[in-house]
Amino acid sequence: MSLYETVVGLEIHVELATESKVFCGCSTKFGGEPNTKVCPVCMGLPGSLPRLNEKAVEYALRAGLALNCEITRNAKFDRKHYFYPDLPKAYQISQLYLPLCVNGYVDITGKRVNIREIHMEEDAGKLVHDLWTDETLVDFNRCGVPLIEIVTQPDMRTADEVVETVRAIRAALAALGVSDVKMQEGSMRVDVNLSVREFGHEFGTRTEMKNINSLKSIARAVAGESKRQIELIETGKKITQETRRWDDNKDTSYAMRVKEDAHDYRYMPDPDLSPFLITEEQLTHIRRTQPELPEAKRLRYPKEYGLSAYDTDILISERTLCVLFEGAAEITRKPKDTANWIIGEVLSILKERGEPADELSLDKDKFARIITLVADGAINRAAGRRVLRALLDSDIDVDAYVKQNGLEAIGGASVVDDAVKKVVAANADSVAKFRSGSEKVFGFLMGQVMKELKGKGDPAALKKALEEALL
Ligand SMILES: [Zn+2]
Repeated sequence: MSLYETVVGLEIHVELATESKVFCGCSTKFGGEPNTKVCPVCMGLPGSLPRLNEKAVEYALRAGLALNCEITRNAKFDRKHYFYPDLPKAYQISQLYLPLCVNGYVDITGKRVNIREIHMEEDAGKLVHDLWTDETLVDFNRCGVPLIEIVTQPDMRTADEVVETVRAIRAALAALGVSDVKMQEGSMRVDVNLSVREFGHEFGTRTEMKNINSLKSIARAVAGESKRQIELIETGKKITQETRRWDDNKDTSYAMRVKEDAHDYRYMPDPDLSPFLITEEQLTHIRRTQPELPEAKRLRYPKEYGLSAYDTDILISERTLCVLFEGAAEITRKPKDTANWIIGEVLSILKERGEPADELSLDKDKFARIITLVADGAINRAAGRRVLRALLDSDIDVDAYVKQNGLEAIGGASVVDDAVKKVVAANADSVAKFRSGSEKVFGFLMGQVMKELKGKGDPAALKKALEEALL
């Protein structure tokens, strides 16, 4: 067992899915022509004044309540000063002194990860490095997009715990609909603060790895940075408190800059934005209209649908899977079957194609139709899988597709009987073996009959006919 323990805390920036920016009316839509979603406020032009978007506050409160936080009733904004070309005002509006939400937590397997605070702030623009002309260009479209920053306590000890925490927070925010939480597009960005210490000792010096953009990279970064720090300690070297960039391709991190302390930012209350009050009515309304969270589904699915804890955990890990499951199960009236189709078939096709489950959009009616056709024996499971693949590719009409491709199961007694007779006659050896007690030959004979029917037999009908023929 290792002498060392890894200690991880997270800072997670999440873009809120409001229509407009947090202090002006510009659109928050991702992408588009550079510098087309800007105005004097988000460009930081002199004389312009910010106005708070109440929807952004509501979304931040929804996140805070879902993550079990206490809400700060007297809220306000502060300026965090720093100079960087993607920040035209040379300060970011944030919350240092009174974060909107404090003292929350998220539960993962076997432990509670505490959330120190969730504060609101605005996003900065984006620098684009043009390799062709060797110039750096700036796009202010993202300037002023509302963010929340979720800061956890250093409660995680392993890469698995870190990944599970990020997953749990992501699933909660997705269920609330307050963000699209796309790590690849940067609407959810995870900074990992990591130190190592000998068991039982004080915390070591920590480093920060910024903007890691996938769960897989997070796990690798935690492992890689732990190893680097342990090697430094073992060789008697010092760990520097600094910001590092995780390079997933090289499987190591690089120093970016020495970490600034809070006073370097010259924080001050923002004089352009008045302090604001969060009222009891506001909170009551939000509590009453919170969507069902993954935690609640975790209790409800086994009870209401009879699903196993394992299946439930897979489904509640993605909002898209919950939506598909609940919608389709209501139609098929076969929740277990529906869950099996999602977990066994849909997810394995997505995995094989390298497509993320959070972007899955499958018509629940059409998906339910496939499940019903298979359950009724109208098509067999292999054919059902084929239709599912087609449905994942394009918006097909399920029944028409089955017909056009001749996928209807062959269950008609005469056709099946003919095939069985043919196989029995052609495989006298195997038939004799079966009759003298070798049951495993049955599978082989079934296969031969299915082949005879070009794979379109209804397995149940086929099994029955074959059993009768072999009596
Ligand atoms: Zn604007």
